[in-house]
Amino acid sequence: MSDGFGDNRPDLSAFWMPFTANRQFKAEPRLLAQAKGMYYRTFEGQEVLDGTSGLWCVNAGHGRQEIADAVHRQLLTLDYAPTFQMGHPIAFEFAQALTTIAPPGMDRVFFTGSGSESVDTALKIALAYHRARGEGQRVRFIGREKGYHGVGFGGISVGGLVNNRRTFVTLPGADHLPHTFDLKRNAFSKGLPEHGAELADELERLVALHGAETIAAVIVEPVAGSAGVLPPPKGYLERLRSLCDKHGLLLIFDEVITGFGRLGAPFAAQYFGITPDLMTTAKGLTNGSLPMGAVFAKREIHDALMQGPETLIELFHGYTYSGHPTACAAGLATLEIYAREGLFAHAAAMAPIWEAAIHGLADLPNVIDIRNIGLMGAIELSPRDGAPGARGYETLVKALNAGLLVRATGDVIALSPPLIVQPAEIEKLFSLLRGVLASLD
Ligand code: PLP
Repeated sequence: MSDGFGDNRPDLSAFWMPFTANRQFKAEPRLLAQAKGMYYRTFEGQEVLDGTSGLWCVNAGHGRQEIADAVHRQLLTLDYAPTFQMGHPIAFEFAQALTTIAPPGMDRVFFTGSGSESVDTALKIALAYHRARGEGQRVRFIGREKGYHGVGFGGISVGGLVNNRRTFVTLPGADHLPHTFDLKRNAFSKGLPEHGAELADELERLVALHGAETIAAVIVEPVAGSAGVLPPPKGYLERLRSLCDKHGLLLIFDEVITGFGRLGAPFAAQYFGITPDLMTTAKGLTNGSLPMGAVFAKREIHDALMQGPETLIELFHGYTYSGHPTACAAGLATLEIYAREGLFAHAAAMAPIWEAAIHGLADLPNVIDIRNIGLMGAIELSPRDGAPGARGYETLVKALNAGLLVRATGDVIALSPPLIVQPAEIEKLFSLLRGVLASLD
């Protein structure tokens, strides 16, 4: 039987795929085999426009020669060296380079291997910070419903997506703000929705319930990504910042998606003009080329831990791959591309074109909401009776067959093209998607 894979088809049985319906996938696999610029190429040779920057990470586009060269050089210069009680130049160099685009005062950087590790690291830094200041009773965390903070036990505890939580035990001491998703009041908002800033005041209720002196930190995505691109209501993040200040709570922005130019500024913190105390990042840090994450901390937080005898390890935390030399080389080359090509400014310039194009789909059947900010966007489809998620999944499959990669979570189609995207590619993306959505029943 010919399924187009010929004799080269890999055996798909051993790889237990993450966040995937394994049996469904393996029955009808979708294999991406190559990538360059804005495009993937499937195993069968079809060109596919990348509407999702891989998984929100390939911000400078695929197959960047400078990153490949830097990684190659680094592998042959110093492939790996530990950062526990030892150091190597490129980790220091990369951390220093990152401070040049960091929000004001956030000039201390802890390296991790992924977004999930960044989240667990930030939560632990928050606990250690309060303890160092004699407030070790601050052990609670406040996350938000519909939040996604990776898949570590810390991340799922503060996260708010039920499927990621229901099978697993979560940490005690995590509570949640209400989500800001409000179709009734905010459907088809362009950019920030008008309604919902008052939802930040729910933090007062949680403070009254638990006692401010027991809470270490509040963690939110400035723009919820995995829940289906939910930009914050106007004024919401400002209120959250001021309530955290009022009660002595650290504010953590999870910028794993919004970091490195997605909104047209280096980080959402600068885009919104709100500086958190800790910031978690990954993905665009290395253009997705090698796994790496980074937690940015305000200098005061770092310095609060640099107390006591200098022979003491200040934070009992770290990973074998914290500051991995090869990942640092990829990251430095990535930062150079962002700067040289002005990609954050380019994203800002493309954002109005993106907004107009995505909202151009509002007339299609089954579309119940369209949301956008920077170079992120989502189209929410009404669920088919008795089959929630079916329209979303069909969109993913049909779009791929039409030459477009989208992300489907339930019935939400999320989009986040590489920041190198040009107006003609935006037009192509939405014309392909229009055809697909129009063909759905
Ligand atoms: N935090 C946010 C906001 C994310 O979007 C993600 C991944 O999508 C993560 C954390 C987890 O990152 P990783 O998959 O690299 O562990």
